[in-house]
Amino acid sequence: MSKTIIISNRLPLQIAIENNQLEVTPSVGGLATGLKSFHKDGDSVWIGWSGLTKEEIPEGLLDEVQKKAKKENCVAVNLTQQEIDGFYYGFSNRTIWPLFHYFMEYTESDSNYWESYKKVNQKYADVVLEHYKEGDVIWVHDYQLLLVPKMIREKAPEALIGFFNHIPFPSYEVFRTLPWRDEVLEGVLGADLIGFHTYDYERHFLSSVSRILRHQTDFNEITLPDRIVKVDSFPMGIDYEKFEQAALDHYESTAADQSELQKRLNHHLESTPDAKLILSIDRLDYTKGIAHRIRAFEYFLDNNPEFIEKVRLVMLAVPSRSNVPQYRRLKREIDELVGRINGKFSTVSWTPIWYFYRSMPFENLIDLYTTCGIALLTPIRDGMNLVAKEYIATRTDHTGVLILSEMAGAAHEMNEALIINPNNFDQVAQALKTAFEMPKEEQIERNKMLQKRLRRYSVEKWAQDFMKSLKAMKENRDSFK
Ligand code: UDP
Repeated sequence: MSKTIIISNRLPLQIAIENNQLEVTPSVGGLATGLKSFHKDGDSVWIGWSGLTKEEIPEGLLDEVQKKAKKENCVAVNLTQQEIDGFYYGFSNRTIWPLFHYFMEYTESDSNYWESYKKVNQKYADVVLEHYKEGDVIWVHDYQLLLVPKMIREKAPEALIGFFNHIPFPSYEVFRTLPWRDEVLEGVLGADLIGFHTYDYERHFLSSVSRILRHQTDFNEITLPDRIVKVDSFPMGIDYEKFEQAALDHYESTAADQSELQKRLNHHLESTPDAKLILSIDRLDYTKGIAHRIRAFEYFLDNNPEFIEKVRLVMLAVPSRSNVPQYRRLKREIDELVGRINGKFSTVSWTPIWYFYRSMPFENLIDLYTTCGIALLTPIRDGMNLVAKEYIATRTDHTGVLILSEMAGAAHEMNEALIINPNNFDQVAQALKTAFEMPKEEQIERNKMLQKRLRRYSVEKWAQDFMKSLKAMKENRDSFK
C-alpha cells in the first residue's frame, strides 16, 4: 500500500523530559491540522526533528523518543547541538530567513553554516529514503529543507515529490546575491511540484530559475532535461471552524468561566465604554514590523491627541530565536520603545500600550481576538500571516476592523481589510482613525465577505489542493510512458 511521507523541520509533537521520563504530546499547529486527513493511522509517516538535541536526551531514552514518535506515526531525525546551531540557527535563520524576507543587511554568508545545512538536509533525506517505497507520495516543507527534494531524487529517481515554501521567495535581484544560489535552486527542483503562498513568490522563483540556471520556463512549468517541474500558488488557510467554534463557546461562557485576562479586558472596556482595544500578535521577529508599529502608534497619538485615553494597543510578542543577535537587539528596542511611549502618554487612569512578551494558551488568544475591536498587523514582510485570518474567523458577530500590511501574503486574499504600507505612518494613522470611526454596518459587510472566503479556503482545502496537483503530475508522467 502506498503512503504519504511528510517532512518538516519539526515534528508536530512536543517532547519534554520530566524525572528521566519522556512526555510526548501531539501539537496542533496549522500544518498538522491541514495534513490531518493525509496523516492518518497507518498510511502516512511524518519525518522531522523532535525539538530535543542528542545532548538533551539522556542516553537510555533515545530509543524511547523513537518509540513514542512512532505511536503518532512520526519518525524523529536525531540532531546534535552543533547541527542545530549550524543548520537551524545558522543557515536557516541567519542566511535564508533574512534574505528571503529582503533583510539583506542581516544575511550572513558563512560557509560553515552552509556545510552544516547540506549535511543536515542529507540526514533528513536519508531518513526519508529509509522509509520510502515506490508509489509513496513525498511532501517536503519549508526553507530549512530546500535541498531535500534533490537528495531524495538522486536515490529514488521515480519518486513523486512535492515541496512547499512557507515563507516569501524574493525577487531575482535579491536572491542572486546568495553565494549558493545554484545549489539551492537545484535542490528545490528535485521536486515535481513546488508550491508558494502567492503568485508573486511563484513568479520570483520562476524568474530566478530561468536567469540563474537558464532552464526553459513556460507559464508555470520548468522544462528540465529529463522532467517537467510545475510551480503554483496555494495560499494556506486556517482551521476556520476551530476558531469560529472557540469564539462561539467563548461568548456562551459564564462570568465564572472567564480567564483572568478576559476579566482585565472586560474591566477596561467597562471603565471606558467609548474606548477601543487595538490588537497585535506576532512572534518577536524583525520581519513583523513591531518597532515600526509602535512608532506609527506614537505618530497617531501625537497627531490625533483626541484619541488619548480612547485607544489602547494590546501587543503580544511571542519569544522567538532569542539566540540570534538581531532578535535580542530587537527585544531591547521594543522594551525601550514601549517604556518611552507609555512614559510619554500615560495618564493616571490609562496606559497606551499593554505589552506581553510570552506565548499565550489558545483560550487567551481567543479572549484577545474576540475582545479587541481593531487588529493592527503591520509586517515589513510576511509569507502569509495566519493571525490576520484567525482574527477574522473569531469575529462571529461580524464586527471588528482588520488593518493589514500589504507586505503580508494574506493581504492578497483579504482586500476587504484596510490595507496599508507599514512604512507610511500617515497611512497607518489614517487607517487607525478610519477603523475607530467605521460604522458597524460597514464592518459587518467587509467581514462577511472575508469570512466567506476564509471558510471556503481552509487549511484542509489547501493541503488537498496541493496533493491533488501533485498526484496529477504522476498521472501526467504515466501517460507519457
Ligand atoms: N500563536 C500561538 N501562541 C501565541 C501567539 C500566536 O500559538 O501566543 C499562533 C497563532 O495563533 C498563529 C501562529 O502562532 O497560528 C502565528 O502564525 P503566523 O503565520 O501569523 O506567523 P509565523 O509565526 O508563522 O511567522
